[in-house]
Amino acid sequence: MAQSALPDQMRALLFEGVGRPLRVVQRPVPQPGPGQLLVRVQSCGVCRTDLHLLDGEVTIDSPPRVLGHQIIGTIVSAGEGVALEGPHREGARVGIPWLGWTDGECEYCLSGRENLCPRARFTGRDIDGGYADYTVADARYCFSIPELYESLQASPLMCAGVIGHRALRMCGEAQRLGLYGFGASAHILTQVARWQGREVYAFTREGDEAAQRFALELGAVWAGASTEAPPQKLHASILLAPVGALVPLALKATVPGGTVVCGGIHMSDIPSMPYELLWEERSVRSVANLTRLDAEELLAIAPQVPVHTRVSTYELEQAPQALEDLRAGRFTGAAVIVL
Ligand SMILES: [Zn+2]
Ligand SMILES: [Zn+2]
Repeated sequence: MAQSALPDQMRALLFEGVGRPLRVVQRPVPQPGPGQLLVRVQSCGVCRTDLHLLDGEVTIDSPPRVLGHQIIGTIVSAGEGVALEGPHREGARVGIPWLGWTDGECEYCLSGRENLCPRARFTGRDIDGGYADYTVADARYCFSIPELYESLQASPLMCAGVIGHRALRMCGEAQRLGLYGFGASAHILTQVARWQGREVYAFTREGDEAAQRFALELGAVWAGASTEAPPQKLHASILLAPVGALVPLALKATVPGGTVVCGGIHMSDIPSMPYELLWEERSVRSVANLTRLDAEELLAIAPQVPVHTRVSTYELEQAPQALEDLRAGRFTGAAVIVL
């Protein structure tokens, strides 16, 4: 798009504070600063983290803020220091994830763990995100999107896929894999895990037959309620629902030496439990954020599987409804805002 075609104003969905309704406003199209790209947003996936931000369970320090961190769009222009060429050429499609900036110099950044950088800035929390017609992003945190994918189909890969992939790596060689909470992330992970030769056991809310059916369609060998015992004990599980009570339930379903990975940014309190559940070298661990390497790996794997995402689409003005539908579990797969 030529610069002259760029409008002055754009639509943006604004978070103004906990307990205040999200609303669509007109704001100036942002200018790319040094090292940044200006991107015309095509789609932005809805994530459970957005609900935690809305509810104040994860804090936004300086509202107002544009949420949204599973962004796919095309490059419009670049700020100082970024060459508009190669993967960053004008019109090229990029994905923008939750990790938006790191300092590159702390002990975590220098040891391949930029996901833990204490100064990290996150898209849609510390930096304006993708529930808007345009956004700016640090070019180093923008990723080329495989051609196989339409933008709205690629959006859920950017967080549900990438952070899920990181959680899956924490499960090591686990053959029997439990997924607790069968939403956007689980529906991608089931496809990747099967491709890797694992068996997937899907756990949903009690009575959520739609999600259980969906899991079986995607190739899970078993689906049931999270309170049920799977037919065989699991080598590892990933908890994708923000419910602390799942930790003892998952440990109970895990073999000695097995791992339970908590995949979300927030969880309700973990209830007290007998040590016996952890005994025999079981581990409980969390996964925080993502590294750029996680994003590159998942975006390389996804077209090989190939991962197909199931998306429910919403207009920008319907984004608050999309978030409430996510909260209530009204769709299977992922929700995506289409700009
Ligand atoms: Zn997310
Ligand atoms: Zn750092």
